[in-house]
Amino acid sequence: MNLETLTLQEQIDGLREKKFSSVELVENYISVIEDKEDLNIFVSNDFEKALEEAKKSDGSKKSQEDFPLNGIPMVHKDIFCTKGIKTSCGSKMLDNFYPPYSATVVEKLEQAGSICLGKANMDEFAMGSSNETSFYGAVKNPLNIKKTPGGSSGGSAAAVAANFSSFSTGTDTGGSIRQPASFCGIAGIKPTYGRVSRYGMIAFASSLDQGGILAKNIKDAAIALECISGYDSKDATSIKAEVPNFSEDCESSEFEHVVGLVTDLIHSFGDEDLSKNYGEAIERLEKLKIKTKEIELPNLELSLPVYYVIAPAECSANLARYDGIRFGYRAENVENLEDLYFKSRGEGFGNETKKRILIGTYCLSSGFYDAYYKKAQKIRNLISSDFVNAFKDVTSVMLPTTSGEAFDLGSITDPVEMYKQDIFTIPANLGGLPATSVPFGEKNNMPLGIQFIGNILEESSLLNISNKFQLGEK
Ligand code: GLN
Repeated sequence: MNLETLTLQEQIDGLREKKFSSVELVENYISVIEDKEDLNIFVSNDFEKALEEAKKSDGSKKSQEDFPLNGIPMVHKDIFCTKGIKTSCGSKMLDNFYPPYSATVVEKLEQAGSICLGKANMDEFAMGSSNETSFYGAVKNPLNIKKTPGGSSGGSAAAVAANFSSFSTGTDTGGSIRQPASFCGIAGIKPTYGRVSRYGMIAFASSLDQGGILAKNIKDAAIALECISGYDSKDATSIKAEVPNFSEDCESSEFEHVVGLVTDLIHSFGDEDLSKNYGEAIERLEKLKIKTKEIELPNLELSLPVYYVIAPAECSANLARYDGIRFGYRAENVENLEDLYFKSRGEGFGNETKKRILIGTYCLSSGFYDAYYKKAQKIRNLISSDFVNAFKDVTSVMLPTTSGEAFDLGSITDPVEMYKQDIFTIPANLGGLPATSVPFGEKNNMPLGIQFIGNILEESSLLNISNKFQLGEK
């Protein structure tokens, strides 16, 4: 049996039925990982520790109810702090950072019994759409090594697609879970802002960042999401809301759906392949006898310029902490304190990060704050109200995840072209809304994704429609 190709649910069942052990699972994964080192997926790993934990898990009598992921191997995006284990965030700045504590997401997954196999490569500080901004070099798409796996959670997506684990964690500020999921032919969910604690998740743009899950399918994503969700007093933006039983809700027949469509908007891009795939997705909904309704999202196209003011503004404030003094990279041979700041930041950050810090600092400066930052916030409200209006009539909105398939590594050099990657994913972040990407269709032998956006805290309904869509006709 190829244990590494099993879904998370199959692994949970197999362990419970003692068809295989956690040690066997981990050993299987290690051999796959060692075979595919050239994909550049991991920044660090500790296989010995993973095997030790697997042994402990096999010997324990923990109940499946209290420890739903007991003995299950997984992969963390290297943005989540792991106590005593290097957490680089894809940056030279944090290449020497061994956090003294773990992120809440990491703790929750440990408490659920899962075993971390390694930390996944990513775009530097989660800024990017191709993994090419990583200090450790780009990750290769396991489906075609000439292509990008997407970004910024490219390592996490590639890990699942290359069978390094059945699920992984990721973060999504403007699409970083959904776009890589789509490029690698897997499923992903970014929950409602505040559903998953940001404590110990290295900050990029705090009002947009949200942790979530990448997995082989929606059901698996639901199982893992349930484990990482919930109120956390250590995160001031964490929502005090009960965590539903996502894995059960995902397969329930209780949910009524009306899916919002934006057919005219999609046609307005003048891209035949994009329109065709969207049309085929609508056909699938019709075959599944799911109600649909055309809606309007009049401000969708403003999402991109708004995001590229707000995200850099927040990043410029968040990244001010990397000063060469407290932790992270410190330049040598400096003349004075100012020189230490300049050189540490100049040498520690990569170009994309520096560019965003500059843009953000500019937008927040007193002369330009009203013109850029404040205006962007007002438009953000407009975009959010488009969704509030839409959700009066529909239970979810269907959009493409990306405008195209995974592109060749090195092929996009114009930053604006790269930023356009996020046109369909950013709106959900601006509105704090949960959203999934489900594999659907293909182009040039590479997978495409369809995205569902749900209403605030309505992950159960969102997972339900996404799962129905992924399974298709019975
Ligand atoms: N690609 C987007 C960016 O570069 C989104 C990144 C993310 O979601 N972390 O900012």
